[in-house]
Amino acid sequence: AQAHLDAIEKAGALNAYIVATPDRALKMAEVSDEKIAKGEARPLEGLPLGIKDLFATQGVHTTAGSKILEGFEPHYESNVSTQLWRDGAVMLGKLNLDEFAMGSSNETSAYGNTISPWRRQGSETPLVPGGSSGGSAAAVAAHLCLGATATDTGGSIRQPAAFTGTVGIKPTYGRCSRWGIIAYASSLDQAGPIARTVQDCAILLGSMAGHDPRDTTSVDLPVPNFEAAVRRGVKGLTIGIPKEYRVEGMPEEILRLWDQGAEWLRAAGATIKEISLPHTQYALPAYYIVAPAEASSNLARYDGVRYGLRVPGKDIAGMYENTRAAGFGREVKRRIMIGTYVLSAGYYDAYYVRAQKIRTLIKRDFEQAYAEGVDAILTPATPSAAFGLGEMASADPVQMYLNDVFTVTVNMAGLPGIAVPAGLDAQGLPLGLQLIGRPFDEETLFAAAQTIE
Ligand code: GLN
Repeated sequence: AQAHLDAIEKAGALNAYIVATPDRALKMAEVSDEKIAKGEARPLEGLPLGIKDLFATQGVHTTAGSKILEGFEPHYESNVSTQLWRDGAVMLGKLNLDEFAMGSSNETSAYGNTISPWRRQGSETPLVPGGSSGGSAAAVAAHLCLGATATDTGGSIRQPAAFTGTVGIKPTYGRCSRWGIIAYASSLDQAGPIARTVQDCAILLGSMAGHDPRDTTSVDLPVPNFEAAVRRGVKGLTIGIPKEYRVEGMPEEILRLWDQGAEWLRAAGATIKEISLPHTQYALPAYYIVAPAEASSNLARYDGVRYGLRVPGKDIAGMYENTRAAGFGREVKRRIMIGTYVLSAGYYDAYYVRAQKIRTLIKRDFEQAYAEGVDAILTPATPSAAFGLGEMASADPVQMYLNDVFTVTVNMAGLPGIAVPAGLDAQGLPLGLQLIGRPFDEETLFAAAQTIE
């Protein structure tokens, strides 16, 4: 724990942590030492972890990367982090993220952007770590924690993992409790780990997952032994390659990596099969209706009364307006406006209901593939390697949204997806592949990802 705290201090320029919690870390580590001395070590005893600052942590400033939560110290702890501490893990601090998890580059955080520890060969241009769990991914990649919690609404675990050469899994919707995680789009949000190896991810997910009656969408299923699944191999499995993911303009090196990944799985005993997921092209536009719609509703609670920031006004409505005007950043305001628009009378059927119908069609595409005997699906994790700071945060937000083209389908269908590092591009930057699984079959993803890793 002490070594990690020192490393965090030295790597301040990365801005991966919003706040480190050294006192808490050392106290927890002391308990771990005692447990180990008594031969009572718990499954994650003494493992120093970072927590994405979207998870409520009791008595520790919790910001969601937003100014509007300034000064908010929850009096409760998220279910996921509670389970990690139950198993002996040690909390190092809270990790930076895009504001309310809206973004793909960590550039929307009110606490400044996180910088990736990676650089293009022969270049000093700072790169983004991806987002929204960019702090989690950068901290894991830079050895500022052994593993981190993260959340994924449309790719926010898998895309930053791919950008930083780390492993990240978004489990099936319902696998982890969302209780105590600040909501972005509740029907899409899931927690999961980012770590340096597939095995580490399996161990962490085993602790984070499980039924919680406080989240009615958390599923009452036993948590499998994920770690045991890691070495299961892929012999006899059928891996689908969806032709619709060959999007125009994708760099040649990503296509090559994808073929290489399929080849590794084939060599290890899997059967590779081309499949079709015909509604893929509609996933991104439908996601950018559903997610802002839910966000506009979830973010209504930040009114200056209940949490954090309050900016006075001439009456209560004026106080709401001033607080929200000062507290929310540009991207969050954009999402609230889009969400409010698509939910409003007269537009609800044309946009929101339509997007929900597309969602059903996307889900059916996957069901069809699985019904035809496919065990998991292999795709690239992202359409490019990490980009430079400011390169995408242009006037056109759609450029940024295009980053999520391979990841949002998985959230729309509620399926598990894992990103695993698979190679480097010509400039020496990590590239990731994604595996998508059947509902509640994270085990197959761990086995297949391990084969690629
Ligand atoms: N980039 C996507 C968005 O901004 C995904 C974010 C996420 O998964 N939290 O909505």
